[in-house]
Amino acid sequence: MTVTVRFAPSPTGKLHVGNVRAALWNWLFARREGGRFLLRIDDTDRERSTSEYEDGIRADLEWLGLNWDDTFRQSARFVEYDMVCDALKADGLLYPCYETPEELDRKRRLQRARGLPPVYDRAALSYTDDQLAAFEAEGRKPHWRFRLSQTEVQWRDLIRGEVVVDTSNVSDPVLIRADGVYLYTLPSCIDDVDYRITHVIRGEDHVTNTAVQIEIFRVLTKMRGGNVPIFAHHSLLVGADGQGLSKRLGGLSIESFRARGIEPEAVTSLMARLGTAQAVAPERSLQALADTFSFETVGRAPARFDEAELAALNAKLLHETPFDAVSDRLAQMGVDAALWDVVRGNIETLAEASEWRDVAYGAIDPVIEDEPLTTAAAALVPDDPLSEESWSAFTNAVKDKTGAKGKALFMPLRHALTGRARGPEMAAIFPLIGAVRARARLAGQRS
Ligand code: GLU
Repeated sequence: MTVTVRFAPSPTGKLHVGNVRAALWNWLFARREGGRFLLRIDDTDRERSTSEYEDGIRADLEWLGLNWDDTFRQSARFVEYDMVCDALKADGLLYPCYETPEELDRKRRLQRARGLPPVYDRAALSYTDDQLAAFEAEGRKPHWRFRLSQTEVQWRDLIRGEVVVDTSNVSDPVLIRADGVYLYTLPSCIDDVDYRITHVIRGEDHVTNTAVQIEIFRVLTKMRGGNVPIFAHHSLLVGADGQGLSKRLGGLSIESFRARGIEPEAVTSLMARLGTAQAVAPERSLQALADTFSFETVGRAPARFDEAELAALNAKLLHETPFDAVSDRLAQMGVDAALWDVVRGNIETLAEASEWRDVAYGAIDPVIEDEPLTTAAAALVPDDPLSEESWSAFTNAVKDKTGAKGKALFMPLRHALTGRARGPEMAAIFPLIGAVRARARLAGQRS
């Protein structure tokens, strides 16, 4: 049995940190098992789905490195869904209901007032011919519900352990809306069966769906072969403040991380381990994350997502990144290996390396805070080529000449030579700046 998993986003919004967890864990599990990872686009709702969102999701997954072995759209499979529905209708498992949303709402309110769970009462199963004729005459269109067995459904969840759901406490799910649109529940099962999905890994907001879908799977596997998949439901993310993220997810899109200079590997390193017993650490290799991925280490508590943690991990990742791993991007910025080695410990995003390119090889405005000192220093800069030893020889000479020492010596020099108060070791960047630029900057000239 080849492990086959799928990530199934609806193209009705951008990929965000909440759903990237499902995408990543499916991918890691597939790669650990030498299995297959499918990308399914859940676009049965043609009105809310757009090709821009779909393209965006694909681009974000590619950027993250989550390549897929196969991909398809649900909108290409309506013929299959129609066929299954005809069979379910013939078996009485899919039945027409004519209640309006207002009528359903009224029923639920009455049930609640009587202290009953708001479960659909199956009134539609006992419509008389006259009632049906009256609905049709009114021009009402039916929505279609699946008839649950009203028994206990049980499965061994890879994260939650033994789960039991009594489907007599669950309303018969609507599979087809009155306007003919397939809701996600049935097409998902048909696809999972047809594509021989072995494991469904998704958020715990789907646990009740799973009970319903297992009942549907049992019918479908008889019709179309295959097995009921194994399930793993992960907890949902909360923010650093412990509050749910659902309302904030718009601002936590993968696109926005990319725009802020977050490396894809920072996102995957964090999301692979967040909410597990394994420590979060920067890791450029997705396969290495896959090799250590294990449902056994996954906790059930909500996982805390903190943007500050992502930014810090991004910086840590860059500090450890060798030139060769990012040489293409650095070459475009005019940053060579020598400069990268000097600055990588001092940046939070790769783009910041270009500021240091200007410091080392371009022109900057020096900041002169002690003119007598820097003027004296300008005359003491040794000749090119400068080496790592040049800095201490130079600063000793300035100290001897001016009597300045400590902060009063080093800060004015750093400010004049780099235009800023902080940065890499001066001994390391001084040789890259070179004697000509150094003399000009110490003299207060832009160079
Ligand atoms: N399109 C569904 C969602 O985004 C897929 C859920 C699933 O993985 O089955 O919630």
